[in-house]
Amino acid sequence: MFSIENPIIIAGPCSAESEVQVLETALEIAKCNKVTIFRAGIWKPRTKPGTFEGVGEIALPWLKKVKEHTNLKIAVEVALPEHVEICLKNRDIIDIVWLGARTTVNPFSVQAIADVIKGSDIPVMIKNPLNPDIELWAGAIERIKKVGITKIAVIHRGFYPFEETHLRNIPKWELAIELKTRYPEIPIINDPSHISGKKEFIPEISQKALNLNFNGLMIETHINPKVALSDAEQQLTPKELIQLLKNLKFRKQTSDNSEFLSLIEQYREQIDSIDYQLLELLSKRMNIIENIGKYKLTNNVTVFQLRRWIKIVETRKEFGKSIGLDTNFVKKILQLVHRESIRKQTKIMNGKDVPKNIDT
Ligand code: PEP
Ligand code: MN
Repeated sequence: MFSIENPIIIAGPCSAESEVQVLETALEIAKCNKVTIFRAGIWKPRTKPGTFEGVGEIALPWLKKVKEHTNLKIAVEVALPEHVEICLKNRDIIDIVWLGARTTVNPFSVQAIADVIKGSDIPVMIKNPLNPDIELWAGAIERIKKVGITKIAVIHRGFYPFEETHLRNIPKWELAIELKTRYPEIPIINDPSHISGKKEFIPEISQKALNLNFNGLMIETHINPKVALSDAEQQLTPKELIQLLKNLKFRKQTSDNSEFLSLIEQYREQIDSIDYQLLELLSKRMNIIENIGKYKLTNNVTVFQLRRWIKIVETRKEFGKSIGLDTNFVKKILQLVHRESIRKQTKIMNGKDVPKNIDT
């Protein structure tokens, strides 16, 4: 079911909306032999009330028809123990269940679901929690493993963006890589749809995941995304999906050399991600510096505060040392940041820029 050798491609609508929508989408998707699993949410845990929360059990006969007309396996999301009970009663239709990000985030919910899954052999996919806490994700895996489920996969759908980003969810690839390192036997599937939020970013995210050796992709696909009742902006048409799968470069993992390249790529992705986070933090720090500059101006206080500066250097050097950073290196970085801060604040004070190479 979840082979590590061949990429697992899952496609289907965010939500099952009608028999026609489900069947037409599935029949088009089935034309591409790369897709083996059909996804459709029938219970939709939504952030806000009053939005479409899924059609529920009435979708089961629609999914049955998908099975009758295609070779696709069927996967649905379960968010409550009752959902699992219904799926287990309908094992002729439902092949796989998955836990959504809003479920993985809550250990009580995961445990309640695990208790009902116990004794069955249904394959389970576990999405990462909304917040970037790898322990919650690992905890959910442990809870599902503990009740005897052996066919487990995880889905990386990105994390709630606390920072401004063009994406709906921040990938934080390094967390997915860390999880993969902890559970090398568990396939990891990337969900570019929920990371992207808009369909134009899906190819880039998908390729990145494949370059990082992910074991598959889950891509939301709808026969007519414009009228979709949920996640309309991020769903591809089946045609777009098939084109995307044609364009993507699926790497082979046969030679030592490609293994080496993929490892290097993973390290580089981690470095890239960390660099962007460093820059984002620096930009945040500079924004605060500007506010302080304005505040100092209205209160007629000098830009340079010696005691504060000495304390900053001392405390940071000490902390840096405790986490294995060279003291001199920490000092140099601080000096650079401080110089830029002084330049910014001086500009605010004087109403004009100062030469960048000024030594303060
Ligand atoms: C979904 O797959 O449609 C979904 C609700 O995703 P997530 O749990 O990742 O938000
Ligand atoms: Mn969705």
